[in-house]
Amino acid sequence: MPSALYLVPADAQEFWRSWTSGPVGALYLHVPFCLRKCAYCDFASCATPHQAPLMHDYARSLHAMVRQVGEYGLLDSLATAYIGGGTPTMLAPHDLGNLAAAVQRYGAIRELSCEANPESLTPDHLAALRDGGATRISLGVQSFIDEELRVLGRVHTGQKAREALQASVASGLRVSCDLMGATPRQTPQSFAYSIEQAIWLGVGHLSIYPLIIEEGTPFYAAVESGHMAQPSEDSEADAMLAAQRILTAQGFSRYEVASYSRPGEVCLHNLAYWNGTPYLGFGVAAASMVDAAGYEVLRQLMPQLPRNASAAARLRLSCTSSATEIAEAYGDVEALKFEIESLTAREAAAEDLMLAARTTFGIGRELQERAYEAIGREAVDATIDDLCERGLLKQVASGAYVPTQQGWLLGNEVYGALWDLASDN
Ligand code: SF4
Repeated sequence: MPSALYLVPADAQEFWRSWTSGPVGALYLHVPFCLRKCAYCDFASCATPHQAPLMHDYARSLHAMVRQVGEYGLLDSLATAYIGGGTPTMLAPHDLGNLAAAVQRYGAIRELSCEANPESLTPDHLAALRDGGATRISLGVQSFIDEELRVLGRVHTGQKAREALQASVASGLRVSCDLMGATPRQTPQSFAYSIEQAIWLGVGHLSIYPLIIEEGTPFYAAVESGHMAQPSEDSEADAMLAAQRILTAQGFSRYEVASYSRPGEVCLHNLAYWNGTPYLGFGVAAASMVDAAGYEVLRQLMPQLPRNASAAARLRLSCTSSATEIAEAYGDVEALKFEIESLTAREAAAEDLMLAARTTFGIGRELQERAYEAIGREAVDATIDDLCERGLLKQVASGAYVPTQQGWLLGNEVYGALWDLASDN
């Protein structure tokens, strides 16, 4: 039964197409606290003692920042929001619920997701999120096998993950779960078991990533010193193919490289990142992406931002303030520090092509036309034709170019070729 909260994938695309353009369509709030750091993690997160006072001050400051930009009108066209981490459920339930409620006051929120980890999610968190207006919860499970979880450095057990998923499904929120493939000690059977457990427990959405060894992590050091094998490309591909096989047979569709959903459970917020919708982010390392006009509106509120001297068409801001600095800002967005990346119209168009190729919706007619304008028809067609000849893209009835199965598995080749269109030499 379709309702405001349940969209079929085609509607999800249509939703953003008909979105009333404004300064931003999506809001991301980053909560950088975790009970301890996982062995593979290079995200912006830090091990934090349970109930550390910093977390309350940080949440209160984020809450005040949302109000400040909201009262200024920056969130008038807001359609989705995502409270991510780190581990947002490290916050006290009322702090997390207040944050959700603050976001819900602005725009016309269609989807409000919150990430959670099994070890810290409580019934009080679920109640506070629901009362605050959250519509969706995304649990970082990774595996249901205790030995695999232990090696990954995760805090929770398989049983704890089962309980957290059961409670989330019972709460009435839409539920997503993250799993990881090609991890140490994992076998094809144990990976299949983890996927089947998540399906059996009633999730409507799964994100399944292969393990990537990131520099600076304990796993990286273990690979460097020869104590751990680098996961092979074959094992990554095998895991992705196995996930696709199991989930497709169970009525899920893959709509992005690593995202699967039951009909109507596509994550609208993530889709915004892949279709060029402008978004705003607050919190440690949170990113924002706006066009030149949106940037000028941001500058009125944050005069510390430099002028758009190069007349960039798209600007990406990454917050460089620490958790303590954000907490001590007490909601004053003028105290925030940012790193800024500027993109020309040509670079922005190439980026849009590359991001669209991550999704099964692909590169639609409208996007092709925009790319022709910014890059030139000849260059765009030559690259797309080449990718089609190599069997990595194909054209479908709507005129969109979508990745083939091979293009999905060799995504980096597709993205690299499309990004090469950013430069004119
Ligand atoms: S829970 Fe997530 S963010 Fe926190 S350390 Fe583990 S992988 Fe990183």
